[in-house]
Amino acid sequence: LAYQHTRFIMSAPTLAHCPADTGAEVAFAGRSNAGKSSAINTLTRQKALARTSKTPGRTQLINLFAVGDDDHRIVDLPGYGFAKVPEEVKRKWQHHLSEYLHGRQSLRGIVLMMDIRHPLTEFDQQMLAWADEADMPVHILLTKSDKLKRGAAKNELLRVRRALHEWEDMVTVQLFSSHTKSGIDELEKRLNQ
Ligand code: GDP
Repeated sequence: LAYQHTRFIMSAPTLAHCPADTGAEVAFAGRSNAGKSSAINTLTRQKALARTSKTPGRTQLINLFAVGDDDHRIVDLPGYGFAKVPEEVKRKWQHHLSEYLHGRQSLRGIVLMMDIRHPLTEFDQQMLAWADEADMPVHILLTKSDKLKRGAAKNELLRVRRALHEWEDMVTVQLFSSHTKSGIDELEKRLNQ
């Protein structure tokens, strides 16, 4: 797929407002500030397709993008779940997310962004548990890998893989940096699968 030919389709307040459940889509998730918007921009070679923000928890709409044609989509999920939003909002969101993971025919998997300096947060564990429940494959990007020296980044990759050993059939992990643009090929390969 030509990821550089990705365009914005729409923003939706809930997953119920998303386009028809046809074709194939992959959802991008991550705690606020994990580097999700930057990763989407890096993958699609666009400067500001997904809005990056320095304010944690700002993005609260689901943003949908078409890759190549309308049959392949990237779904940019809001970073909350553990951000400072009211409990009620959080609960509603979790309910929607659960329905989406279980009911969306076109959903093929989840790309989960984790800042390499603090991976496997409570948010991440929760996403992994929900994905597991829904039998949904997860591909983890350890983002901002440029923040660590090469050896340290590699060690962290191995450490996270070991920690997720029990999900080895469903969970894959790679290093990624939007700053150095490293990890794009590996991500594209996994998405194509
Ligand atoms: P989001 O909230 O998950 O969408 O995260 P953003 O993409 O907005 O990134 C959050 C912050 O991390 C911003 O200040 C980015 O500049 C920074 N950031 C994102 N990706 C990288 C990266 O690969 N390397 C470094 N050093 N910083 C990054």
